[in-house]
Amino acid sequence: MTELMICHCRHHPDSHLSHAAAVRENPANAASKGQGNRRKRSIGYFDKFWSPGRTLRITFVNDAEESLKQAIFAAACKWLPYVNLSFELVADDDDDSEIKIYTGGTPELNYSVYGTDALTSAGASMVLGVTPDMESFERTVIHEFGHALGAEHEHQHPDANIPWDIPKVYEHYASKGIDKATVDENVLARIENSSLRKVPYDRHSIMHYPVLQALTQGDWEVGINSQISEKDKAFMRLAYPHD
Ligand SMILES: [Zn+2]
Repeated sequence: MTELMICHCRHHPDSHLSHAAAVRENPANAASKGQGNRRKRSIGYFDKFWSPGRTLRITFVNDAEESLKQAIFAAACKWLPYVNLSFELVADDDDDSEIKIYTGGTPELNYSVYGTDALTSAGASMVLGVTPDMESFERTVIHEFGHALGAEHEHQHPDANIPWDIPKVYEHYASKGIDKATVDENVLARIENSSLRKVPYDRHSIMHYPVLQALTQGDWEVGINSQISEKDKAFMRLAYPHD
């Protein structure tokens, strides 16, 4: 049985604050500000990528086991060959760290804020409930770190024409206690075009949720993607170039 994961990601509610932080960190983030504007009082689409070449410090805000910290760090580092960034694991509860991880929740609760939104949030920027004994551990950590590097969901790509059976999607997630707003934001909504998102839609992306056939019309499904795809690599190389 394909277990559908959902990460409870939300963009920062204050888009002006979020935009200011994104542009201060990396002026290139402003360049993709689009015309499309579905959200009222939004200032349009912009990217939330870190400044290429920098080191992101990773800290744990709760008392996590050393073995868990090392396993999370190792999985996160799978992105490093494709980005011009470094990761550094620093002492617990280091206030200056860019990525602050809380591991004390439940296995189902995993999320990260998007990229530079971490600069605007107090407390943990990422929650990881998975543990290394779980089959879903590595792919979940890689997926959440994809968000921490500014990637959004691939199933929400502007060209993802997933034939969702929408009432069944709501019903499915409601049975897991997930509300409609979270489903809208993390499953159904399409992301607006940006200058950097010129990499074609890829159903094999680690940022794509599994799609159950029962939740689509006709013969359409996506299995569990466990690895960084060629598209994911291309996207990250665009976001974090070496020059
Ligand atoms: Zn996600």
